Amino acid sequence: MDNYNFSGKKAIVRVDFNVPLDESFNITDDTRIKSAIPTIKKILKDGGSAIVMSHLGRPKDAFDEKYSLKHILKHFSDLVGQEVMFAKDCLGDETKKQVSNLKKGEVLLLENLRFYKQETTGTEDFARELASYADVYVNDAFGTAHRAHASTTIIAKFFPQDKVFGYLMADEINNIEKVLNKPERPLTAILGGAKVSGKILIIEQLLNKIDNLIIGGGMAYTFAKAQGGNVGSSLVEDDRIETAREVLKQAQEKNVKIYLPTDTIWADSFSNDAGKGVSKIGEIPNGKMGLDIGPDSIEIFKEVIKNSKTILWNGPMGVFEMSNFELGTKSIAEAIVEATKNKTYSLVGGGDSVAAINKYNMATQVSYVSTGGGAMLEYLEGKALPGVEAIKN
Ligand code: AMP
Repeated sequence: MDNYNFSGKKAIVRVDFNVPLDESFNITDDTRIKSAIPTIKKILKDGGSAIVMSHLGRPKDAFDEKYSLKHILKHFSDLVGQEVMFAKDCLGDETKKQVSNLKKGEVLLLENLRFYKQETTGTEDFARELASYADVYVNDAFGTAHRAHASTTIIAKFFPQDKVFGYLMADEINNIEKVLNKPERPLTAILGGAKVSGKILIIEQLLNKIDNLIIGGGMAYTFAKAQGGNVGSSLVEDDRIETAREVLKQAQEKNVKIYLPTDTIWADSFSNDAGKGVSKIGEIPNGKMGLDIGPDSIEIFKEVIKNSKTILWNGPMGVFEMSNFELGTKSIAEAIVEATKNKTYSLVGGGDSVAAINKYNMATQVSYVSTGGGAMLEYLEGKALPGVEAIKN
């Protein structure tokens, strides 16, 4: 962005305005819109104009009032600080006219791209049509960078020279790269969430890069069972027990220290009001299910976090959505904030750990919170993201 002069140019900007709306179409979280504003402002400041495109929700390949981007037009205008024009269709003669009349300093928001199935099928003609609107392509939609859609990937080929990452996209990539490729050590990954199967590719990748691996959440019980423990009726993937053993073996071979919870908070049932107790993780009474890490584990994990120079956190330590089982997740978030104050670099990303850090109002107290759930996970799995590759190549 900084090296590109948008003066006199029309830029087509792919953003991720897939924001949550309530029943009256009020935006309940505008983070994604806010994140795109610096990119749009830079284009306008240079003396360019911006044609902004996005998807919203999952419409069924046709116009659907519910998913119209007109619902976000007013708020978007407020955030840009000027009136944004709206094209009722992302294709068509009327839109072409609006695009050709667009003057320097102006912004035009196109209607939801996913009203056309050609967007998600990555159809070249559809991408060519969008490309014809502009002189330069800017991709600032990290949240969809793992999809080879028309507007996120295919379109880039029509701008062999004039394609750039927006600020948000560049930030996301730089922050992940910092952790994966040039971390200050020790580098600790904290992985939680429900299942081993959902995280195994990430674990395998990270074992080549990290010094410490903290494992919490539902995953931990499969590991505990793999070590011969009794985990009651906790979430266990029996078909992943061998995988868990393999991870423990590989970690040893690669000199990665693994920290599993030593104790757990168990419950009678999967409910916030359930009766609960604490036990060693391998000694959970029959019929009880582990829903959070226990007090000893919290202390051990906090110590590891305190002594780390780089931290990557993905996935909660327990069922943090229930107040009686959130202490582990909350304590880990607090420890990460504390470490960040002491100059540790901390990246939080991928789904529910972001929800957790937001729940505790700590998002501004860690080094970086990724906006891209699925995209971030695929990046951590070592996969090339089509949206990123399309700009780089
Ligand atoms: P994931 O999307 O795989 O990161 O999983 C996040 C979900 O895992 C959250 O909704 C948590 O409530 C859930 N979770 C965390 N710990 C446990 C646990 N011990 N048992 C069941 N679910 C859990």
